[in-house]
Amino acid sequence: MPTDRLPPEWQARLERAGLRRTQATRRVLELFLRDCGWSPTHAEVDAALQSGGLQVNRVTLYRLLDRLAAAGLLERQPDDESRSWRFHLAASDAEAQAPRFECDACHRQFRITEASQSSRAATHQLLDALAHLGHHAQRVELAIHGTCAGCQPSPDQPARR
Ligand SMILES: [Zn+2]
Repeated sequence: MPTDRLPPEWQARLERAGLRRTQATRRVLELFLRDCGWSPTHAEVDAALQSGGLQVNRVTLYRLLDRLAAAGLLERQPDDESRSWRFHLAASDAEAQAPRFECDACHRQFRITEASQSSRAATHQLLDALAHLGHHAQRVELAIHGTCAGCQPSPDQPARR
């Protein structure tokens, strides 16, 4: 899959950051584009690259993930459980307004774009409240945690623990 499946604004972010299109960069982006909910740790990206037959030096991969995050192509969040960062495909400018849902079981992340209208209204109220208190908000992110449809046990199957 070519990286020209990258939305134009991400393409622009890649170019602005001056990131060279190395094979590793391409393969990493392909992995994230193939599954937009994927939010692996560094070690999981490493494993996925290796199972695809590409060996990348651990430090090089770490730097690459960092640079992709700095360039705004990936976002990263600390994962307390594994004590490492989890990376996921950054939201497009339109999606960034939408609340994020994270499954605590499989760590997949979804943008709830269907809810962006109502969450935008809620966001405005929050910003108004902050401004009223004299605070200057820069960024609002709504995150919802739970269990995704794929991780919920079916009725006749007990939940795995
Ligand atoms: Zn899940």
